[in-house]
Amino acid sequence: MKSGFVSLIGRPNVGKSTLLNQLLSQKIAITSNKPQTTRNIIQGIYNEEGIQIVFIDTPGIHKPLNRLGKFLNKEAQSFTKDVDVILFVVDAKEGLGAGDKKIISTLGKDENVILVLNKIDKMNEADILRAIKDYKDLYDFKEIVPISASTGENIETLKTQIKKYLSDNMRYFDNDMITTNTINFLVSEFVREKIFRMTEEEIPHSITCYTSKYEEKKNIVNITVDIIVDRDSIKKIIIGKQGSLLKAVGIEARKDIESLLDKKVFLELYVKTIKNWRDKERYLKELGFNEKDLID
Ligand code: GDP
Ligand code: MG
Repeated sequence: MKSGFVSLIGRPNVGKSTLLNQLLSQKIAITSNKPQTTRNIIQGIYNEEGIQIVFIDTPGIHKPLNRLGKFLNKEAQSFTKDVDVILFVVDAKEGLGAGDKKIISTLGKDENVILVLNKIDKMNEADILRAIKDYKDLYDFKEIVPISASTGENIETLKTQIKKYLSDNMRYFDNDMITTNTINFLVSEFVREKIFRMTEEEIPHSITCYTSKYEEKKNIVNITVDIIVDRDSIKKIIIGKQGSLLKAVGIEARKDIESLLDKKVFLELYVKTIKNWRDKERYLKELGFNEKDLID
């Protein structure tokens, strides 16, 4: 049995969450073209005969990891330590920038770092070669793998490279488990993602979502997600003209949830205004908020 922990690091928007979903062939991490979409640590578990890989998708290089479960016993102040492999994901189309250099400077000497050049679907061969040249001498990368997280190009090669650095070890999780995040959390994340995608820049950051009802019936799952906003003006925007935006959010989120659960879903969304919800931690906890929802 070979197993190991692999963390995805990189600047916002380079495609870490998209890559995680692609590696698992299942959407568990939300993505968008806005920075700071990922708010919590997402752990995805990849299983194959004789192999288990625990992937850790992080909100950003600056966020602490101290909310990782103790059972992992791999937690560290810096997620560039104590993992078996680090996937350093970069936007190869955009190219090398100060953000990348800063991250490289935080890497320890003896890490197994794989440089993942993402978004090659938008590049020609010469562009890709140039990107490799720009990055390759900045650190002693164990491997350099150009991929497209969107199309899946070269993902199998990346998996093969990762497997080289796993060691004989235990199975950490049941092999039918795909994430350590709860279903309730994923459901509320899918709703949050749709709002991210359908509203302007400033709106998504002023909301939070949580699943207030999850009821599994024989042929259907009844789910309610509350969308908490801090001002009535934002509530109005999220509801939209005659409820149009909220309806669109519901339709898109339901598709994702149905595909995750492989079951028919009835989804209800409520928008509630709680002034300064960010500051009212205790109150929100009583409402059933997961502590994780309060990071950020
Ligand atoms: P994260 O912030 O690093 O987690 O980045 P996301 O996974 O949320 O992706 C950021 C944006 O880049 C989204 O709009 C994705 O659709 C887009 N993206 C991710 N991977 C690729 C890729 O391989 N090719 C292209 N063209 N776009 C990508
Ligand atoms: Mg992300």
